[in-house]
Amino acid sequence: MKIAVIGTGYVGLVSGVCYAELGHEVVCVDNDSAKIEKLRRGIIPIYEPGLEEMCANLVLDGRLAFSESLQDAVEEAELVVIAVGTPPKENGEADMRYIEAVAAELGDHMNGYKVVCVKSTVPVGTNERVRELIAARYFGPFDVASLPEFLREGTAVHDTMNPDRVVIGSDSERAIALLKELHAPLTPNLFVTDIRSSEMIKYASNAFLATKISFINEIANICEKVGADVDDVAKGIGMDRRIGPSFLRAGIGYGGSCFPKDTKALIQIAGNVKYDFKLLKAVVEVNRHQRFSVIDKLEDALGSLDGMSIGVWGLAFKPDTDDVRESPAIEIVGKLIERGAKPRVYDPVAMDAFRRGHDHPAITWCGSALEAARGCEALCLLTEWREFAEADLLALEEAMNRPILVDGRNVFGGERIGSTGFSYYPVGRPVIR
Ligand code: NAD
Repeated sequence: MKIAVIGTGYVGLVSGVCYAELGHEVVCVDNDSAKIEKLRRGIIPIYEPGLEEMCANLVLDGRLAFSESLQDAVEEAELVVIAVGTPPKENGEADMRYIEAVAAELGDHMNGYKVVCVKSTVPVGTNERVRELIAARYFGPFDVASLPEFLREGTAVHDTMNPDRVVIGSDSERAIALLKELHAPLTPNLFVTDIRSSEMIKYASNAFLATKISFINEIANICEKVGADVDDVAKGIGMDRRIGPSFLRAGIGYGGSCFPKDTKALIQIAGNVKYDFKLLKAVVEVNRHQRFSVIDKLEDALGSLDGMSIGVWGLAFKPDTDDVRESPAIEIVGKLIERGAKPRVYDPVAMDAFRRGHDHPAITWCGSALEAARGCEALCLLTEWREFAEADLLALEEAMNRPILVDGRNVFGGERIGSTGFSYYPVGRPVIR
């Protein structure tokens, strides 16, 4: 199959590479010429385990190419996959300008029957809008389909090659057949539905996962007050098959480019049809406050943070990615600075990305985890990178001025901490002093 993927971000690039891996001929298009130039030179602009190697091999085999020209890629393709961004506007609504620009451009360059599918996360009705925008410029036959993406950054290649399910929303048998053929080698769980339900499935999935996270974080906050252990509570409730064990890790809340934006967009989508989505509003509110529990615990341990060196481990919104979009670390570091503290920060991969958007004279950028902790009055762990979980706690204790550890991701067990002199503040578990 000849495929054009429009937008080479986390979703487009990974999808394009995986389609090529399945044996198709793929051209990945982006209007960011610097990005395409890098990709042509074999440089992957995002950190995603396994991607660089796959990409290099597929380019060598001639199955994967990169282009700035939507026209060239689309004229050749029988399937066009739109994977451009849908960032939030100020009111939380998804910004459709990139999708609409691509749809209009497609209308100018369609040259025969093609299936145009939208992988970006888009409000209900968007695929129909894409159809209208194309049809206003191109009068030949084509079909649209919704193909929501469920990959997770950090395991994106694995998720794409081994999806739990693939959802296809279309009113065209021809489009459905083509997309079934594309995904058949990946999963038997192909779910076909109408376009609007498919668009809704993506938002409902992310809203539900965000709800699980905020739920367990509230349970954690109560556990702290009543002396229960949230990790055991999560294990106990997760053993009920109706609940399930995943997404019940208490911490400092979700971040990233999807959950924050998609929850707010769904609240807005509901609002547009005069429905007040009270539950989801609470989920967002809980998540927004949860990150500041780190600051409360630091103040509980130290009193005023003014003038204090505080180590910060982890800036990415989760491990195995360099993505810092909506990472809780942004507001936590900001709050530390506001309180007069001097953050010493370290992340194995996301330092550059964080620095680009959130540099500040009060921040010391450190070359290693130990360096970030050196001479600090306290250390807070914000991202559960494996490197942190495997840290030598005795060396860490020695490097710090005061052995105070606020663990925002419950990385360390009580036993490991018990053999050290650390005062340890986890989430939803008893404090060890
Ligand atoms: P991204 O911002 O990383 O990438 C989007 C890319 O589209 C950019 O490279 C940009 O230059 C390009 N682009 C914008 N306008 C263009 C145009 N007119 N022509 C060609 N290229 C253009 O975004 P992302 O994280 O890959 O997300 C894409 C979509 O997928 C979003 O709707 C997002 O919500 C959804 N999604 C993301 C994830 C994730 O984990 N990142 C997971 C599931 C779904």
